[in-house]
Amino acid sequence: MKIKTAEILCVGTELLLGEVVNTNAAYISQELARLGISVYHTSVVGDNPERLKKAASDALHNADLLILTGGLGPTYDDLTKETVASLLGLPMVRDEKILAEIEEFFASWGRPMPENNAKQADIPLGALPIPNKTGTAPGIFIDNGKNVVVLLPGPPFEMKPMFSDFVYPRLRQMSDKVLVCHNIHIMGMGESEVETHLLTLMQDSTNPTLAPYAKEGEMRLRVGALAESEAEGEKMCEEMIEKVKNSPVGPYIYALDAENIEKLLVSTLKEKGLTLSVAESCTGGYLGKRITDVAGSSAVFTGGIITYSNEAKMSLLGVSPETLERHTAVSGQTAIEMARGAREKLKTDIAVSVTGEAGPTPDPATGCDVGTVFVGLSAENTEYATRVHISRHRDREYIRKVASSRAMREILKFLSKNE
Ligand code: ATP
Ligand code: MG
Repeated sequence: MKIKTAEILCVGTELLLGEVVNTNAAYISQELARLGISVYHTSVVGDNPERLKKAASDALHNADLLILTGGLGPTYDDLTKETVASLLGLPMVRDEKILAEIEEFFASWGRPMPENNAKQADIPLGALPIPNKTGTAPGIFIDNGKNVVVLLPGPPFEMKPMFSDFVYPRLRQMSDKVLVCHNIHIMGMGESEVETHLLTLMQDSTNPTLAPYAKEGEMRLRVGALAESEAEGEKMCEEMIEKVKNSPVGPYIYALDAENIEKLLVSTLKEKGLTLSVAESCTGGYLGKRITDVAGSSAVFTGGIITYSNEAKMSLLGVSPETLERHTAVSGQTAIEMARGAREKLKTDIAVSVTGEAGPTPDPATGCDVGTVFVGLSAENTEYATRVHISRHRDREYIRKVASSRAMREILKFLSKNE
């Protein structure tokens, strides 16, 4: 059978009491969206067979697929399996193989199996058991030609691998739609400005959809297309991505489907066979830390010099006293000389520098507002600095983080111009 619509029913009084947050529904909803299956309804019922039966019966009328989580355990209040089986008119049969597996699970813990665990080996006639590698309760997969009903245990660490290993691939074959998603990464343009430029496009697009997500100092636009095939979905996404590229947001796109900017930077430098060093003031080593968070960064990153005082900037990086006197430490000229100094000392193809006001109070010596940051770049035959404005209302940690992101963005921009 083909599955187009689904309902999710989470069983557990602890969910109704608000003691446990229903993360299972969120996870399953996201997975079903990826499969192109429309979730019509999500609900929660307590450990009560009558109400569970009613909710499950309604769901079976409304949707092709019903996924239940919780209440599969061995205790008296775990009633999901029996209730669903009786609703579907299926008798329970004991599966000897599952029974042996449960006994083995307890044996591996050095304990005998409690008697009530045996009931976990009972499955509705004709159903497929779903192996549970992290617990004892197997899941249940029922396809009666009219509905598909999936029962999964409540604990997320058991439910998720069972869903991804067993349920997802089967549903994939039963769904006639696929959801293709791509992420557009944006930096340097504020969230509200991005929305202003793209609001009509976002509101008018139902398939593919265009949805914004703000992250610290950057933004992500998620493009999602529901299509008959992977190829068609890709084409639909591509058209949407082109529209965004051609909008005023276009120049601020720094990547498509990147995990994070530091990984992208390291892999881009590797591809081009270029080395990098850094000179940091207000970020105090944060930039170097983020670059070296990437495994394998040693192939491209030689090191960094942290110069916080003017003296350190002069003695370690060779920033001239005149520059510091005339332009102050927070200036484009200082940033350029810092990058030049790092590049010479650490003998790299490219060096980038960061100097700025991280706050909370501005330094009267520089005359700059909190959040003013200069990023300098030095490479063969090139030297320049860019001024970056980060909101002065944000805290020190945020300003330092965003300053380091913007420095990486500057390098990527430079690399893409020199293709
Ligand atoms: P067990 O064998 O552990 O009893 P079970 O299938 O019977 O599994 P429940 O007893 O319903 O599951 O729930 C066990 C625990 O799993 C809950 O106490 C809770 O911590 C977690 N859990 C259950 N349902 C959800 C849910 N929808 N979202 C997140 N966590 C959940
Ligand atoms: Mg239980």
